[in-house]
Amino acid sequence: MVKITFLGTSDSVPSSERNPTSILLTYKGENILMDCGEGTQRQIRKAKLNPCKITRILITHWHGDHVLGIPGLLQTLALSGYNKTLFIYGPKGTKQFMRNLFNTFVFREKSKIKIEEVNGKFLETDDFYIEAKKMTHGIPCNAYIFVKKGRIRIDKKKLSQTKLPSGPFLRRLKEGKNVTYKGKKYLAKNLTFREDDKKISFVFDTSLNNVIIPFVKNSDLLISEATFSSDLGEKAKKHKHLTAKQAAGIAKKSKAKKLILTHISQRYDKNLKKILDDAKRVFKNSFLINDLDILEI
Ligand SMILES: [Zn+2]
Ligand SMILES: [Zn+2]
Repeated sequence: MVKITFLGTSDSVPSSERNPTSILLTYKGENILMDCGEGTQRQIRKAKLNPCKITRILITHWHGDHVLGIPGLLQTLALSGYNKTLFIYGPKGTKQFMRNLFNTFVFREKSKIKIEEVNGKFLETDDFYIEAKKMTHGIPCNAYIFVKKGRIRIDKKKLSQTKLPSGPFLRRLKEGKNVTYKGKKYLAKNLTFREDDKKISFVFDTSLNNVIIPFVKNSDLLISEATFSSDLGEKAKKHKHLTAKQAAGIAKKSKAKKLILTHISQRYDKNLKKILDDAKRVFKNSFLINDLDILEI
């Protein structure tokens, strides 16, 4: 299962209810922090997570509400004896911004950090891959997709009709290899099936553009900013953000299974329904997320 912990769900100004943007994605020993707004460290503690377990930080862009928590987090990691290499990925300019950051603060200790400016597929393991795509937000800004690769699984019903014992035979079938047991040959393709990939898309901070839909196509989970309601469409356009209705339009046209709305302005703290209704009118399977909510997929 991929676990997604929403550490911060506000737009640029934090409210009493919401911290600025940060999401932690946990899967197979990886703890990938997506953006790190101010206050993320305390949210990590409130979620009872250990910051030293973070393996990578993905930065969407360098507006303060997405990165102000980075210097504090790096200081904590260094002081806590973080002994791995921390990988930091971001859009063009990220290396310079990180240099500026190290020139601004006096860090007593430093961890080993590797910084990459990314576009396209930049990380792939046996279990997942991550891709970045340039968005339109006035400054370099990336959206990301995380794809958990589907595995070959044993069809238990079909297996029960055979006399194959568990253990090495099943392992070989899962590798796509045929096996012979007591003189009888069993074909992998008859006893296994391929589980679907699971795709999680992260779109925060962008105006509507025509690269989003192909990039997030067929997401199991589309996590999108929804800074404005549709009556403030002009404002959204001016500040290069999405309205909830536009986010829902993207979900619908890209055939997402589920839409999660985040990056919520404090102007809706007392009227969240306005944002949610806006989205639901276009895409029924829309949900508003709150700080410290957890989703598993
Ligand atoms: Zn933002
Ligand atoms: Zn922004």
